[in-house]
Amino acid sequence: MKLTYARRMSRLGTESAFEVLAHARQLEAAGRDIIHLEIGEPDSATPQNIIDAAVRALNDGATHYTPAGGIWEVREATARYVTQRTGVKTDAGQIVLTPGSKNILLFALLALVEEGDEVIVPDPGYPIYRSLVDFIGATPVSLPIRQENDFRVAVDELASLITPSTKMLIANSPQNPTGGVLTREDSEAIAALAIKHDLVVVSDEIYSRLIFDGTHTSLYSLPGMAERTVLLDGLSKAWAMCGWRLGFGAMPVDLARRMETLMINSSSCAAAFTQWAAVEAFESPESDRAVETMVKEFRRRRDVIVDALNAIPGVRCHRPAGAFYVFPDITATGWNERDLAAKLLDEVGVAVLAGTAFGPHGAGHIRLSCANSVENIERATQRIATLLTPAAIHN
Ligand code: PLP
Repeated sequence: MKLTYARRMSRLGTESAFEVLAHARQLEAAGRDIIHLEIGEPDSATPQNIIDAAVRALNDGATHYTPAGGIWEVREATARYVTQRTGVKTDAGQIVLTPGSKNILLFALLALVEEGDEVIVPDPGYPIYRSLVDFIGATPVSLPIRQENDFRVAVDELASLITPSTKMLIANSPQNPTGGVLTREDSEAIAALAIKHDLVVVSDEIYSRLIFDGTHTSLYSLPGMAERTVLLDGLSKAWAMCGWRLGFGAMPVDLARRMETLMINSSSCAAAFTQWAAVEAFESPESDRAVETMVKEFRRRRDVIVDALNAIPGVRCHRPAGAFYVFPDITATGWNERDLAAKLLDEVGVAVLAGTAFGPHGAGHIRLSCANSVENIERATQRIATLLTPAAIHN
């Protein structure tokens, strides 16, 4: 039988990190030495105390379905964590636990956005935003995120993109792929626009623990915002738990109930032992120390990679204030980002992502992840420098 696919499938995008990783692994299988700077997950192990908590939970029988929105005690612990981080009193009923934070975004779109509505997405931005907005039949509207503006949101430009059809704004700070961090003033100006135009905000704060300079201001924490904001966060990045699959959202209680219904209709629940491990991540001082150690190491790597990239003629790299990516401008090298990313992998064995994998405004940039050792980052930047010597300039 020839399968015919629903039209919506043609609107679904992808995350090129997974594709580049697969290609890089094939090259490795063929004997090539590849340095992985494409990956969006911490390279460290999950802290041992969190692993121990999960093993204890399994031994204690956490092997069953849980309530769809999460185990109540874990929702309470998550609510305490959100309250402590944002200063906004948040109850367990406002929390939904999902197998990865992508579900929180998908469910927010499914629950709140009609076909034909406009959703403002950062560009460059995490590719899943645009993909899911397209998938549900809404219209993604690009909000350019520019290096000249330290990869922060240009608030006047955001204001100019809002129309009567705008339903939702997706914000992300610290940002993937640029490492840009919104200042408190930026966040206040964005909040004022959201309130003025009655927008729902999905505030993706999954990198909020990974800040090198300045502080994180949660959009959810600003006056008048908790009632219109879905705070999206998860365990993947802060505690190196990508494979455990646990994300969470904090939101108005009515919306949380609808997300529970969406969970009943999709995953049923997040894994029980993973949920119990989250309590250890949120509440143990040992887990906090592990986060601090990781942030210190990522800061060190950020400085190594930024300095090495800026020493290469034609490369201009902003020093990001958060997350674990750098997003250098490579236009002055004469290369376009797709050719350069392909050449770096195929010729010198450095896996990076083309900036346009994150939206049209990523043109002229590549994304490199710091989730690799300083030694490998140094080897990778040397290889990049070799490829980009004037003799190798592409016409
Ligand atoms: N949001 C951003 C900005 C991300 O970069 C990622 C993962 O790379 C996610 C959300 C999703 O994370 P997870 O589904 O592992 O919680």
